[in-house]
Amino acid sequence: MSKFWNVKLKDINPYTPGEQPQDKSYIKLNTNENPYPPSPNVIDAIKEVVNEDLKKYPDPQCLVLKEALAKHYSLDINEVFVGNGSDEILAFCFMAFFDNTNEILFPNISYSFYKVYANIFGVPFSECSLDKTFKINVDDYCKKSGGVIIANPNAPTGISISLENIEKILKANMDKVVIIDEAYIDFGGESSVGLTKKYQNLLVVQTFSKSRSLAGLRVGYAMGSEELIKGLEIVKNSFNSYTLDRIAIKGATEAVLDSEYYDTIISKIIKTREEYKAIFIKLGFNVLDSDSNFLFVSHDKFEGEDMYNFLKSKGVLVRHFKKREIDKFLRITIGTKEDMEELMKEINEFITIS
Ligand SMILES: *Cc1c(COP(=O)(O)O)cnc(C)c1O
Repeated sequence: MSKFWNVKLKDINPYTPGEQPQDKSYIKLNTNENPYPPSPNVIDAIKEVVNEDLKKYPDPQCLVLKEALAKHYSLDINEVFVGNGSDEILAFCFMAFFDNTNEILFPNISYSFYKVYANIFGVPFSECSLDKTFKINVDDYCKKSGGVIIANPNAPTGISISLENIEKILKANMDKVVIIDEAYIDFGGESSVGLTKKYQNLLVVQTFSKSRSLAGLRVGYAMGSEELIKGLEIVKNSFNSYTLDRIAIKGATEAVLDSEYYDTIISKIIKTREEYKAIFIKLGFNVLDSDSNFLFVSHDKFEGEDMYNFLKSKGVLVRHFKKREIDKFLRITIGTKEDMEELMKEINEFITIS
């Protein structure tokens, strides 16, 4: 701990992103990126902005992007917020909606950034255990709290919860904000967006990083009541008015407009997921039901870390979490069919030599 640092940093354990190797080329199935490129319209639009507009500041309100999102999700423009990746929006949510008076609730196995944000923003929290089948216990979130944050589908399990259960949580927390992180919703599960009209306390967060193949552009968005969106705007404008640059605004807008392209690649990913789920099961793996673009798999006979290390040595990167409850598991992003064939070749090799 440096004497120059804010004392808050003493107990901060920052988020560790999945490896992003810059040297050797791996088959990268470790950070849930989309294996297919963004829509060609997105690339064309980005090339145009680069040539014309970069000497000028972007629109701090990001109106064209908000308009496209509002139209796509049948919302009012005042019910949409955009930010530099959903990670940034989640950080703004912690500042806007949670404080140090009541414990917020999230699952003990979920996106690990929630705990990091709680720590850095001084928000007390309680982690609710998943059940034996790695499902969320809905009742855990129906008690008095400072707010709730749930990923649906959950990560790294891929399991989703029903809208009926989300409504139950919303009804039990009418005076607190319930955040549903829908980073993977386009790959399965039911979106809560439609419930935002009915529940003033619901904020739905989504991202362009997974289903829309734009992890490198850094754009996320949130949808909810005007009251919640205003809270986020206050935080944003007290921090950085230009969180989205011109390239991001233009690229993301074109992505929203090209649903046809994205529906096609999403269908391909879902088809590959189901195909490889069956193959893993045939090989004796335990595979959780996934509504996302990854599979969470374990095998009674093998350690997760051994499989991870073997695959890495063969040029295939997957994600392993050193957390007791899930350390037998690997989280494997669904790649192209070729990526998955290569992965299976190496998994078969691992099984043979083990
Ligand atoms: C990937 C992911 C995010 C972050 O997405 P960005 O928009 O790239 O910041 C947020 N939540 C979950 C559950 C994710 O998996």
